[in-house]
Amino acid sequence: MTLDSDAALSIIPRDAHNVSRRDISPNALRVLYRLREAGFGAYLVGGAVRDLLIGGHPKDFDVATDATPEQVRALFRNCRLIGRRFRLAHVVFGREIIEVATFRANQVEEEGVEAHEVEAVIRDNVFGSIEEDAVRRDFTANALYYSIEDFSIRDYVGGFQDVQARVLRLIGDPERRYREDPVRMLRAVRLAAKLGFTIDGPTAEPIPRLAALLRDAAPARLFEECLKLFLSGHGVQSFLGLEAHGLLDVLFPESAGALRSNRSGALRRMVLKGLAETDARVAAEEPVSPSFLFALLLWPAYCRSLARLQADGVQAPEAQQRAADRVTLHEMDVIALPRRFSLPMQEIWLLQPRFAQRQRRRVFRLLSHPRFRAAFDFLVLRLTASDEHAGDVEFWREAQQHPDAAVNAAEAAGEFDEAGDKPRRRRRRRRASGGPGE
Ligand code: ATP
Ligand code: MG
Repeated sequence: MTLDSDAALSIIPRDAHNVSRRDISPNALRVLYRLREAGFGAYLVGGAVRDLLIGGHPKDFDVATDATPEQVRALFRNCRLIGRRFRLAHVVFGREIIEVATFRANQVEEEGVEAHEVEAVIRDNVFGSIEEDAVRRDFTANALYYSIEDFSIRDYVGGFQDVQARVLRLIGDPERRYREDPVRMLRAVRLAAKLGFTIDGPTAEPIPRLAALLRDAAPARLFEECLKLFLSGHGVQSFLGLEAHGLLDVLFPESAGALRSNRSGALRRMVLKGLAETDARVAAEEPVSPSFLFALLLWPAYCRSLARLQADGVQAPEAQQRAADRVTLHEMDVIALPRRFSLPMQEIWLLQPRFAQRQRRRVFRLLSHPRFRAAFDFLVLRLTASDEHAGDVEFWREAQQHPDAAVNAAEAAGEFDEAGDKPRRRRRRRRASGGPGE
């Protein structure tokens, strides 16, 4: 392992930084104090220290120590050890879990690494010193240690200054660090988006060149990264960052291609609008759904696939299902989208043409569809790209309030062919006047 001479320690004393115990989770403090009382080194580390330094609110508090996992377990009743090879201690306080990791010397992160990838790593799986633990981390900003001993911050990599300068800088040689773990490219973009940091030049430079390495990353891990990129309140910035650093093409190859060939930019506008609305929901602490997110991100791919099938003469309902399946299948090569999200995602797409319907029975059936709300929100979003469906949006808005009145009005006006591109409009009109029959 590369530990070296240039890991010079600098200690930032309590009166020279703003990390206060008031802002640290009481449970994390309990863990830190208990470790110290038992004679071990105990530090708050990683994202929590970084976030506190910039006045943020960490969502979890990780602890690093020189105690071994077994020693940690012996100190806490509410503790379980997890991981087969890299053992971590989880100290459980109701819904809060404080992760306690023993200093490690190895450079490869265990998180999300598949069993078959682990082999090369085993021999390096040894505990190490705090310096070794610092240099195996990704960015300097993520490698700061807040000591419970004297409330100082220990900095082995220049992270304190980088946080003050709002810069993300990889520790060590960037290209080597990306080759070790390509997911770090996504982490760079994600953390820059989340924190409003800039990515240091030499850290940013290799990303477009090495982007393709991400294809070998574990698809389940990429799924988790995607949720963090897009459902944590900074989705727009994440998208722009991925685009700027050539990563969108690797994560969403078909959508990236479709976006490029959409000259008017309408689809891109729609995606950005959808992400902005998702960010607003996160800010308002409203729920957000991975199904809707992926429906949005893969919509350009779906539209293109559908258009191609239709150009080949495949009829509408079949073309829709095939396009949905095809896009889902291809995306699964990269990102492991669980079925509980991919099926509702497809439903959101496949329900879109049904918003053109005005027959009483179909209207009521669609209104009571479990995916109605999501599909309708998606329809509204599509207005950003085209006003083709403005009439549908108006009708279904009314139909949710007063379904009978909406259907009656549509029948009276004979306007159930709003979208204008439906071949069966005459037949429909007659049927509709005959009541709910099909
Ligand atoms: P977030 O705010 O998203 O939780 P984080 O920096 O805390 O950001 P985590 O995934 O929780 O990210 O990781 C915790 C810490 O583990 C990081 O701060 C970093 O020190 C280290 N780490 C995580 N992933 C990697 C990686 N791929 N390579 C090296 N170190 C990593
Ligand atoms: Mg974290």
